[in-house]
Parts: sequence; C-alpha cells; structure tokens
Amino acid sequence: MAEEMRIVLRNLDKIDPLKIDDYLAVGGYKSLQKARTMSRLEVIEEVKKSGLRGRGGAGFNCGMKWSFSYNIDSDQKYVVCNADEGEPGTYKDRIIMENDPQTLLEGMAICGYAIGSNKGYIYCRGEYPYVVEILNQAIAQAKGKGVLGDFDIEVRMGAGAYVCGEESALIESIEGHRGEPRFKPPFPPVEGLWGKPTIVNNVETFANIPVILEKGGDWYKGIGAASYPGTKVLTLTGDVVNRTFVEVPTNTTIREVIYGFGGGIIGGKNFKAVQIGGTSGGFIPEAFLDTPIDFDSMTAIGAVLGSGAVFVMDETRDIVDVVERIAKFFEHESCGKCTPCREGTKRMHEMMHNVNSGTARAGDLDLMEKLGGVMGVACLCGLGQAAPAPVLTTLKHFRTDYAAKFN
Ligand code: NAD
Repeated sequence: MAEEMRIVLRNLDKIDPLKIDDYLAVGGYKSLQKARTMSRLEVIEEVKKSGLRGRGGAGFNCGMKWSFSYNIDSDQKYVVCNADEGEPGTYKDRIIMENDPQTLLEGMAICGYAIGSNKGYIYCRGEYPYVVEILNQAIAQAKGKGVLGDFDIEVRMGAGAYVCGEESALIESIEGHRGEPRFKPPFPPVEGLWGKPTIVNNVETFANIPVILEKGGDWYKGIGAASYPGTKVLTLTGDVVNRTFVEVPTNTTIREVIYGFGGGIIGGKNFKAVQIGGTSGGFIPEAFLDTPIDFDSMTAIGAVLGSGAVFVMDETRDIVDVVERIAKFFEHESCGKCTPCREGTKRMHEMMHNVNSGTARAGDLDLMEKLGGVMGVACLCGLGQAAPAPVLTTLKHFRTDYAAKFN
C-alpha cells in the first residue's frame, strides 16, 4: 500500500495558520535566512538540483525558470504566485493557503532573493475571498515580524475568469487590463509584468521551496519519479469512496490513488474512467491504471497530470454526456482573443451536443478529431490547446460510447 508523504502539507493540522509564531516554532523562515547566507546563484543551483518542476500543470523546470530572470539585468523584477485555481475539481492550492500561508510567502521571498526582486504578487481566484483574508493577515504578520526583509507581497483578486489562470492573462489582469493571453515569446521570465522579468509559479511550487532549501536539492531529487521528483497533492472527486486530498510521492500509481487512498468506487461498482488534470485533462481507461502519476508517465499515455485533479467515473456514467458538459465549459470560458479557440470551442460544443442528443451527422466524429488536432497546435494559449483533450481521448478510448449515440 502506497503511503502519503507530506512536504507542502507538512504543517497541516500542526499549526494555526493565522499565527506566525506557530510557523516560526516549527522552523518557519529558517530556509529564507539560510538562502540569504548563500549567493543568489547558489540558491538557484539548489532548486535546479532538486529537479522541482512546476506544479501548476505545465511541469517546467523551476530552477531553470528562475535562472532566466536571474540572468537579466533590470531595475525591477517581479515574483508572482498563481493562485487562480480555476481548474474544476482542483482545490490543492486552497488547502495550502488555508492551512499554511506563511510557507507560500517564504517560498516567494526565497525566489525574490534568488532572482533579485523586491516585489511579489499573489493572484488569488475571486471565488476564494476568505483565502484572500488569510493571505492578507499572514502578510501583515510577516511584515510585523520583519521576516520578509525588503520583499513586499501584495494580494490581487481575480473575478472568475478561468483564462486568468494562464500566466500572461493573469499578468494582464494584474496590470488592470482585460484578462487575455499574450503572444509568447517573450516569456514572462524575460518580459512579464509591466514588461519586466517575472517569475510566475503556482502555490504548490512555491510551497516546496522552503523544504528544498532546508533539506537540500539532493534529498528532494530522491523522492518519487526521477524525471518529476517530489510529491504531488491530488484532489479526488467523483464516484470514489473517499472524496479527499492526498499528497503522495510522484511514483505512486493511479490505481493506488483511487483504490488505496480513494477507497475504490462508491457502491462497489466497476470503474469506467478517470480524468486527471481537471477539465483539460485526458480520460484514462482501466488499462492505464498502473501508470505512475508523474508528469512524463502521464504524458506518455496521452493524458496530463495537470493540476492533479482526479475525477473518477463509475460504469454507469455517460462519458459522452460528461464530455459535452466540459465542451460547454470551454466555450463559455474561451476569452475569444484567437479564432481557433473562439470558434473551435463553439463548434466542438455544438458537435458534442449533436452527438449526445442523437442528431449528429455521419462524419462528425472524424471532424471533431480534425478540429481538436488543429486547436491543439493553433490556439494562442493553453486553454484552447488543451480544450479538445477530453474529446480526443474519449474518442480514442471510449469510441463505442459515441457509436451508441448513433443507434
Ligand atoms: P508552458 O509549457 O508554455 O509554460 C510553462 C512555464 O514555463 C511558463 O511559466 C512559461 O513562461 C515558462 N516557459 C516555457 N518556455 C519558456 C522559455 N523558452 N523561456 C522562458 N520561460 C519559458 O505552459 P503554460 O501555458 O504556462 O501552462 C499550461 C498548463 O497549465 C497545462 O499543462 C495545464 O495542465 C495547466 N493548467 C492548470 C490549471 C490550474 O488550475 N492549475 C488550469 C488550467 C490549465
């Protein structure tokens, strides 16, 4: 039986999140102090050594990202925490922020020291107003204690747009503009907030940093899968007995997550599919349940780890109906800036609706596959590129469910 391992959730239920003294008593801010005794480059090298990859979904090497900003001479640099946790079924960042906000602030301050930035922003989703309160209290306490030094952190609140979780749309939103993605390159580490070098990392990514500084990159690198070391916080939803969250080493398999921590399928029913990574994740059939949940293993089976949402479906679920709802979600959330996404999500939803209601034309399934392929490469940002994944993976693994709608 796989075991839970808590790194980012190490202080859960052990400290009062609204008391900085509790955090200090368990060694809080010692890693920031340690970082300040090291050179900035040494801090980045330690993070690189750990192999930590982004926990927001894209899995980019964290230390490498930091080095891009470090290497640029600029009068101002920024550290931005992406807390716009909008992926349906995902609430890992909320758990971290609710239970241990200081660890996030410490991780951001370490990043600020490493890249040479004195200003950080936390962009928190608008649906988490109480989390914003917690963060503001935590920042006030950290400033009161003087632990952040000259590093300042401000909280900005989203207003419910899913696309603002995309880093460049998030940056536009902080700048006070409509939340629409920018063309990349230039990437934010080079040219981000107000055109300055900006590190955008997810909450869970920053929460790993103090532990990496404390225990060392080599220690971290030895945990979980070699190509995606460390742990991942997963949130289990759907037809699973324990709708809960777990933090597990990244070499844990999907089966261990669903049948071990999740306790199996509700009512003793059979498993049908699991969607990992939220709405933009692929659907995984039973044959792949022994795949480890690390980034590369998931990509290899045509799925994504994404933000780590685990949505379990039992044998009674109508896959085509589920995918139609997801297609509707993407049509609604497309910002409309680029044509492949604006039109693609609309047409995809239209065709999914037709299939689901039994009014599709022969050839529509092939057309959906073609459209999905185009969107995957032509859309401006991750929203449109990932939107067809549920359609494409279910057409591949659950084609008979689609065929049944034509009878
Ligand atoms: P990406 O691969 O384009 O970029 C990942 C990160 O690396 C970004 O910060 C980017 O700026 C940086 N980067 C990449 N190439 C670079 C370069 N050449 N130079 C400098 N920096 C570079 O992916 P993305 O579009 O940022 O994110 C897409 C992911 O977001 C998807 O995989 C999806 O799983 C995830 N996602 C997460 C949520 C959530 O709620 N957490 C919601 C939707 C999507």
